[in-house]
Amino acid sequence: MHMLIKQIMMAEKVGNSLNHKKLEGKVAIITGGASGIGEATARLFAEHGARAIVIADIQDVLGQNVAKSIGTEQCTYMHCDVTNEDQVKALVVSTVKNFGQLDIMFSNAGTITEKISQTILDFDLKASDRLFAINTRGVVACVKHAARAMVRGGLKGGSIICTGSVLASFALPQSIDYVMSKRAVIGLVESASKDLGKYGIRVNCVSPGGVATPLTCRASNFDSVEEGEKFFMDNSRLKGCGPLKVENIANAVLFLASHDSLLITGQNLVVDSGFNAHGLTKA
Ligand code: NAD
Repeated sequence: MHMLIKQIMMAEKVGNSLNHKKLEGKVAIITGGASGIGEATARLFAEHGARAIVIADIQDVLGQNVAKSIGTEQCTYMHCDVTNEDQVKALVVSTVKNFGQLDIMFSNAGTITEKISQTILDFDLKASDRLFAINTRGVVACVKHAARAMVRGGLKGGSIICTGSVLASFALPQSIDYVMSKRAVIGLVESASKDLGKYGIRVNCVSPGGVATPLTCRASNFDSVEEGEKFFMDNSRLKGCGPLKVENIANAVLFLASHDSLLITGQNLVVDSGFNAHGLTKA
């Protein structure tokens, strides 16, 4: 194994054992938790002692399997299409009913553009409706209903984390709706953090660079996760550290969810291995 990777893994092991169990007793919802970044975050939250993790997704079988593999005493699955505000409200209400509180909302469900490679010249406005409904309006619904539950919970505070993207700050060509939808999330986080500060509720964003997940494999026509990892690694400025992985994003989410980030709100934490976004897609 590369020496640098070995050293970093050792340092992470020491760091994790010193600060173990950062979420003891906490109740968390993770949307888009059936796969990729959401799934990795659910696993990390469980390791860090979260009392209850509710995975919400539209991929029911995958989501149920993730919950089972984590352990159903700690992790449950609930179907929730984030484009449907009633379903988001029901997700939050049932979490509070079942577990007594809500401490963490990770609003992470997202999708890519249906019609890849459109320039503004032939941009199909109708075709982007679903993307905006998931990536932007869905996030607003999650932040709204989580915040309402946290406010009702009294002065316990709470942490809301949304998934943005490196493309929110660095627009690629032919990605108009995705770039816009994620840039809107940064605006939502900044604005909502100002509304919610007086209740002790923090709102932040994690913006991943390229990570090989089912979403990016679909977007960039990678045949396998390995092909995706190799491609993204070529665009990394930290090549000796290995490819950016879902676990690296989950670590950033854990930081923002935990007491370690107590006085951080309204921020966008970019986790992108110093990415050179010029090379993000094959296009
Ligand atoms: P993924 O496809 O593995 O996971 C996304 C999950 O969201 C899936 O389980 C999917 O079923 C769920 N989802 C989609 N629509 C939904 C809906 N309407 N309601 C509920 N759940 C829904 O992909 P991922 O890469 O883990 O993506 C997670 C988030 O990270 C997304 O918001 C994505 O835009 C963002 N992101 C990913 C990358 C990357 O390189 N992988 C980079 C930047 C941002």
